[in-house]
Amino acid sequence: MEIDFNKNNDGLVPAIIQDAATKNVLMLGYMNQEAFDKTNETKKVTFYSRTKQRLWTKGEESGNFLNLVDVKLDCDQDSLLISVKPIGPTCHKGTDTCWAEKNNQHFGFLSELEAIIKDRKDNPEKNDSYVASLFRKGINKVAQKVGEEAVEVVIEAKDDNDKLFLDESADLLFHYLILLQAKGYTLNDIAQVLKGRH
Ligand code: AMP
Ligand code: ZN
Ligand code: ZN
Ligand code: ZN
Repeated sequence: MEIDFNKNNDGLVPAIIQDAATKNVLMLGYMNQEAFDKTNETKKVTFYSRTKQRLWTKGEESGNFLNLVDVKLDCDQDSLLISVKPIGPTCHKGTDTCWAEKNNQHFGFLSELEAIIKDRKDNPEKNDSYVASLFRKGINKVAQKVGEEAVEVVIEAKDDNDKLFLDESADLLFHYLILLQAKGYTLNDIAQVLKGRH
């Protein structure tokens, strides 16, 4: 890997640290050639600390190491994208990321939908909302809807009408998200369980 360490005349390149599983950005550090080589040899991310003015293996005091998974060089060879498996919180202030975020898995549009469903759960009086009305009817009614939609998916799976199959699948997933929320859980909790079995 031919890295251009001298763009800034300081022998350093920025290294963006990304969680291999969640894809969240955990922190930003700098590497010189020596730090880069040590990272590859030890499989523990090692930076050149501009503050300490020495090589710094992330986790050397806290034990919160960043285990190396993959390294990518950008289009003009002057920055690194380093994929890691973090051991514990990455920020020395105790948060998962250096931007005080939780290192949760994100599910794109499904996460947006979860946030809207949570809002309806927190505001059940919203009377023009179908989701709010389901929460008002209670958990048994929500669970029953999931059961009905599941049966509809089974029925449509036997046919070769893809449109109906996709529509019923969407209905099932939507109502399942509502049931999860009614029970106080999210897709992330289910992903954790699945990950535990993996
Ligand atoms: P650690 O490398 O986790 O053992 O932490 C040792 C020291 O490095 C801490 O006391 C901080 O000064 C610094 N440090 C640790 N993690 C970070 C981070 N994510 N960003 C900046 N500085 C950090
Ligand atoms: Zn670049
Ligand atoms: Zn930090
Ligand atoms: Zn349906």
